[in-house]
Amino acid sequence: MPTNQPNLVLTSARVLDPDTKTDAVLDVAVRGGSIFAVGSGADVPASAETVDLSGKWLMPGMIDTHVHVGGDLDGVTNPGIGLRSVVLAGATTVIDLGGSMERLVAGMREHGAGANVGGLGMMKPGVTLPDDDPWPSVVRSTLDTALTSGLLGLKMWGGYYPFSMDVTADIIAACNERQAYVAFHVGTKSSGSRLDGMRELPALLGENGRVHVAHINAYCRGSILSPADEITEALEILDGLRGRVVSEVHLARPNFTRGECDEDGNVRMDVARNCLRLKDYETTRDGMRRAIADGYGSVVRQSPSGLSLATGDEGVQLFNDADSLVGMSFPVNRADTAFQLTAAKRQDGSFIVDAVASDAGVLPRNVNVEQAMNMVRFGGLTPLEMAEKISFNPARMIGLEKKGRISVGMDADLTVIDPDLGRAVMSFVAGKPVMQEGEAVGKGGKLLVTAFGEAAAGGYDLPFEVVDLSRSLLYSG
Ligand SMILES: [Zn+2]
Repeated sequence: MPTNQPNLVLTSARVLDPDTKTDAVLDVAVRGGSIFAVGSGADVPASAETVDLSGKWLMPGMIDTHVHVGGDLDGVTNPGIGLRSVVLAGATTVIDLGGSMERLVAGMREHGAGANVGGLGMMKPGVTLPDDDPWPSVVRSTLDTALTSGLLGLKMWGGYYPFSMDVTADIIAACNERQAYVAFHVGTKSSGSRLDGMRELPALLGENGRVHVAHINAYCRGSILSPADEITEALEILDGLRGRVVSEVHLARPNFTRGECDEDGNVRMDVARNCLRLKDYETTRDGMRRAIADGYGSVVRQSPSGLSLATGDEGVQLFNDADSLVGMSFPVNRADTAFQLTAAKRQDGSFIVDAVASDAGVLPRNVNVEQAMNMVRFGGLTPLEMAEKISFNPARMIGLEKKGRISVGMDADLTVIDPDLGRAVMSFVAGKPVMQEGEAVGKGGKLLVTAFGEAAAGGYDLPFEVVDLSRSLLYSG
């Protein structure tokens, strides 16, 4: 191609760029993997492909900072299938919150649909850790193993595998020492996956600690106070840690958890117990069966195309067949909570919760664009604010300075939204289409690694990009 001409021109789109506050009908020209020009009425060279986006919205590619595409989830033998789901939902970059590099790479090779993917290592006693409450030296060697394998950092699943407060604080400190990414589903041995887990954040972080707090809405389900009071307090906690905590909220109603029960017939996971208690079911194997039979709890089942939910007799059957080792879902996420946490701003106009993320991927609730568009229709977000919450802020959270923006020289990662349908209908990664009208058309994907993982990434037979997390909002906020 000529060196000074675009090879792709997207014409007449309503361009939404939160960085420059641009909201106007413009043409966007792409050359190679980058944005070559943004303007109107430019002469399009005959050699360039053009896509008429009249009536469509064009935003920087959707970045989902909380997905599960490489993790270890009950009943999911091949999490790589989630890589197609995220692309179908309009994502161009995703962060897997808690798995292993081995599974992530295998999934990308087999099912990758063209998205950029970074991953965090899961802190799971008996699997990625030798024991419960690891010593500081074990925490650091676990982190180093994760980073040198190409992962961006660690994820603590406090609602599932909680540590003591001291160990939780130490894991955060270890990640901070390396400027590695660290995400936290709150809860320790002295709290739960609830508001009381969030209340521990100031003590866990001390003077200088930094952490990504996952799905704030999951701690505002009314387990401790009224949902409204929990929202107020959660926002106060986050605002009090401004500049040191990044966070996201998801907008799907169904949650996901695990059905696992112990030898005595008690439900093992704190998240699942909370779901049962919210509707006055016993936190036992029988209580779980009743919740499923009544249609409140659903069991996650895997099919070649993805996951779906089974409830009633069929759900109970699946639960029994797997001896309780199943993924579960309860409709416990409140729409009012999601709306308020997403829209909440400080006096200076900045959002208290940085981003909308899906906590989906392989789980059937990749609804960032659909639900954010519902909020736009209702007036809870402007179109530019939507692009801020699902692309610009997520890019800043990870330190991806060439993503989340539509201006010259930025990566040509773009998501096209049909405002009438209220969903993503097309997207591009590095100027190449990865999704077109309900079809995932990309392959493979680029790995996001830190400098520690560069050597390993060279051996995975996948393209990769080195991310400088010191530039992320987590460390520069
Ligand atoms: Zn998650």
